[in-house]
Amino acid sequence: MNITPLSNPVKFLKSVGPQKAKLLSKLGINTICELLTYFPKEYDDRRVYKKIAELKEDEKATISGIVKLADLMKHNPYLWAFKAAVSDSTGLIYATFYRKPNYKYDVFSKLKKDFSYGAKIILHGKIEKFYNSKQIKVEEYELISEAGYSTIHTNRIVPIYPLTDGINGKFLRTLIKTASEKYSCFYPETIPEEIRRKNGLISSKKALEQIHFPDEFSSLKTAHKKLAFDEFILLELAMQLSRKQYLEKDKPHSYTILKKYLTPFKNNLNFEFTKAQKKVINEIFSDMQRAQPMNRLLIGDVGSGKTVVALSAVLLAIENGYQVAFMAPTEILAEQHFYTIKQFINGLNIRVGLLTGSTSASIKKTTIQKLQNGEINIVIGTHALIEQKIKFKYLSLIVIDEQHKFGVAQRQLLKEKSSTDTLIMTATPIPRTLALTVYGDMDISTLDEMPPGRLPVKTIHTSDKDAYQFIRREIKKGFQAYIVFPLVEESDKVELKSAVTQAKHLAETEFREFRVGLLHGQLKGREKEKIMLEFKENKFDILIATTVIEVGIDVPNANVIAIEHADRFGLATLHQLRGRVGRKSSMESFCLLIGTLKTEDSKRRIETMLSTNDGFKIAETDMELRGQGEFFGTAQHGLSELKIGSITKDTDVINSAKKTAE
Ligand code: ADP
Ligand code: MG
Repeated sequence: MNITPLSNPVKFLKSVGPQKAKLLSKLGINTICELLTYFPKEYDDRRVYKKIAELKEDEKATISGIVKLADLMKHNPYLWAFKAAVSDSTGLIYATFYRKPNYKYDVFSKLKKDFSYGAKIILHGKIEKFYNSKQIKVEEYELISEAGYSTIHTNRIVPIYPLTDGINGKFLRTLIKTASEKYSCFYPETIPEEIRRKNGLISSKKALEQIHFPDEFSSLKTAHKKLAFDEFILLELAMQLSRKQYLEKDKPHSYTILKKYLTPFKNNLNFEFTKAQKKVINEIFSDMQRAQPMNRLLIGDVGSGKTVVALSAVLLAIENGYQVAFMAPTEILAEQHFYTIKQFINGLNIRVGLLTGSTSASIKKTTIQKLQNGEINIVIGTHALIEQKIKFKYLSLIVIDEQHKFGVAQRQLLKEKSSTDTLIMTATPIPRTLALTVYGDMDISTLDEMPPGRLPVKTIHTSDKDAYQFIRREIKKGFQAYIVFPLVEESDKVELKSAVTQAKHLAETEFREFRVGLLHGQLKGREKEKIMLEFKENKFDILIATTVIEVGIDVPNANVIAIEHADRFGLATLHQLRGRVGRKSSMESFCLLIGTLKTEDSKRRIETMLSTNDGFKIAETDMELRGQGEFFGTAQHGLSELKIGSITKDTDVINSAKKTAE
């Protein structure tokens, strides 16, 4: 290992004691390296001084002047003010600082020293009216003590850092400035000169200095480009390696398209595959027929028809005598897949098993046995499928539905299990270029076309009363409705209508004349299964549920989904929930968002839902609101480790990093 001062703890820096070190640690800064890579969240251009005479009330400004007069004013025993008159060639302004007096030491001593008569000073802050004159509520000030003095907090493009209690901007800025002058030369240069030249990249040292204290906005841009490149090249190299490893080994099985099951399955469908579905099925089949294992990601917005595509792959495997594991993120979804798949393959000689957390011990035992001796062709289940040590007679294909709900660890576990073909499906509608970055180790298929005749879901923000009335009207026409609540049990702390109490209440009042079912995560698997099935068979008019129905549930006759406390849900969830309706051709459907909007974020979310049905746009806003690490799941592919690179804004950098990595 190289010994570099960069790995030294910050507590050894001058001006950082154990106390401050603890606080810095809260910001994720423990070492000098972490200090240097603690990047500003924004910048404030304080290069231009305003003339005092031209200052307007309420504006934020930077001014430069000479201290004329300073005095302490004791307003009352609890609040004293230090006031200094500062003038430039055009006028005079009062800089005011309020402090609680302390009788043990002079809380104004530093100010008194700094604002001594004749001192040259730069002030930054908000301009206020003060009787007939102006005053500035100083946020930062800096003394110009000597000629040629280079400023840190004013008279430049000033970095603004995320802070925490006990660490103020001035302290952190000064600390980073001194550390960067002393230590940025130790920062390793990971990109060879030649590649830097080719991609127009500056050195790491220069980039680090400029990202904190840029000379110009243009040099800030070049600094960002270099540091983002450094991050993305690592990510891309890791992807390329993982991909290479995957393609190195040949799989032990092979397939021929026999159409023994495929043709009857196709003939049984009451619809034609869309062009996009045909294209994707071809891509999957050619992967499956090659010597190396398939490692394919299928991206398709909610309702685009991923299930039948996956089923085609499943049938190819089964008609060649192999077994398939089909996994869903939730029990309900696994159960639903179990029933839909059974319907789709009705009449074919295929045996299907279901294994979830709530499968009874005896059924579990026989199912596992039958998987081992090959009696079951396809097993559907939750991720418990890979956690248990299940042995298959000949597993050749694994399908994972709604991948965004799976952890990377689980995916890895699965990969290690054998050299099976893997098909992963996600409804997170990320654009192709982005997908190539995030899932760069996989081949990617996109279902970019909806089944014909789908009408966009009409989305309305409304009151609960109006929503209930609307639902009554639609049910009388023969349709069904979902009502979604955020919580299962009434909690004392949060006054939310909970699904359980509300279901009972609504069933007895608003919807007395209708059949109301209740579905939530704490029901036993059996009961959940039963309720889902009954709703699908139209034995309930209304299904009141928690977000357990978020993904995958498919009841085409339901045309309204009302979401209570819509402001409590994230955008991705809202979009998924909305995807529960509008699943049948030429049927009008509705999403009713209920609840008041308390925060800016919740306003943005609801506005986005009202303005678009485009999953891609929604994902973009979602990513903006939540941050990319959070959006993709924290541990995913080192994305959360990106400190500066943005996978939405740095597409050019990503592309050049990708090319370089290749
Ligand atoms: P998702 O991609 O969200 O998983 P599903 O596979 O559940 O979507 O499909 C949504 C609905 O559309 C289902 O009822 C399915 O049977 C139906 N469907 C799928 N493909 C087509 C098609 N080509 N034409 C008409 N309906 C289709
Ligand atoms: Mg699905």
